[in-house]
Amino acid sequence: MIHVSILASGSSGNAILAKAGETSILIDAGLSAKRLNELLAGLATPPETLAGILLTHEHVDHTRGLKGLCGKNEIPVFTNPLTADSLRKGGMQTDWRYFSSGAAFQVGDFNIHPFAVPHDAADPVGFVLRHGPSSFAVLTDLGHAPRQVVNSTRGVNAVLIEANHDETLLQNDQKRPWSVKQRILSRHGHLSNQAAANLVAEIASPDLHHVLLAHLSDDCNAPALATGTILEKLQATGNNHTRVHCPGAEGFPLPHTIAV
Ligand SMILES: [Zn+2]
Ligand SMILES: [Zn+2]
Repeated sequence: MIHVSILASGSSGNAILAKAGETSILIDAGLSAKRLNELLAGLATPPETLAGILLTHEHVDHTRGLKGLCGKNEIPVFTNPLTADSLRKGGMQTDWRYFSSGAAFQVGDFNIHPFAVPHDAADPVGFVLRHGPSSFAVLTDLGHAPRQVVNSTRGVNAVLIEANHDETLLQNDQKRPWSVKQRILSRHGHLSNQAAANLVAEIASPDLHHVLLAHLSDDCNAPALATGTILEKLQATGNNHTRVHCPGAEGFPLPHTIAV
């Protein structure tokens, strides 16, 4: 069984704790080290007990607390060389452990499969984590889903997927300049609710029990809108068994934990 706890989600910070057997792993560290320490302590997993930190990519909303967390605790950081390079340029030094996209590796009781995703970062990835028959996919920060992303995640038991924006709300948004909207909507930007719904429907199987919606925009999305779009698509394909959660929204206080 894998226990997944969403610690934070969205442009102000992203972090996920995954536990299986004797192993605890943090995926992304996008909150301050102080806040991550508090949250991990609250889940009886102080940072020094982590087997490693996996990074999806170098953007600050995924790495803000990395330096503070690793500096004191010597936690290995699993990433690909290009992501590490770009963090090193920002002065980050740590116990790097390199993987290549597409090549599975083991961290304690987890088997981890990283795969490339299209996003405006050095070498961004998604992950599928496996432990025994249980599997959990992380699909956040991607502009669209190429075939290989679908193939890598089809059949998993749970998926955390980005539902960043509602396209109409984003297009009508007054705060964002045109260039920023173009970046978000591009093929290397972020998934809309509809794009996330289409992707969930493609990877869904009778074994998909949980969908966790992540990285919702504060201004250009709403939990009910995102959840409704995903549920509507699942129901249209005859799927009535998959639960859709929106961690951080009403009814899903953070940290939000599920077991798969
Ligand atoms: Zn990003
Ligand atoms: Zn992000």
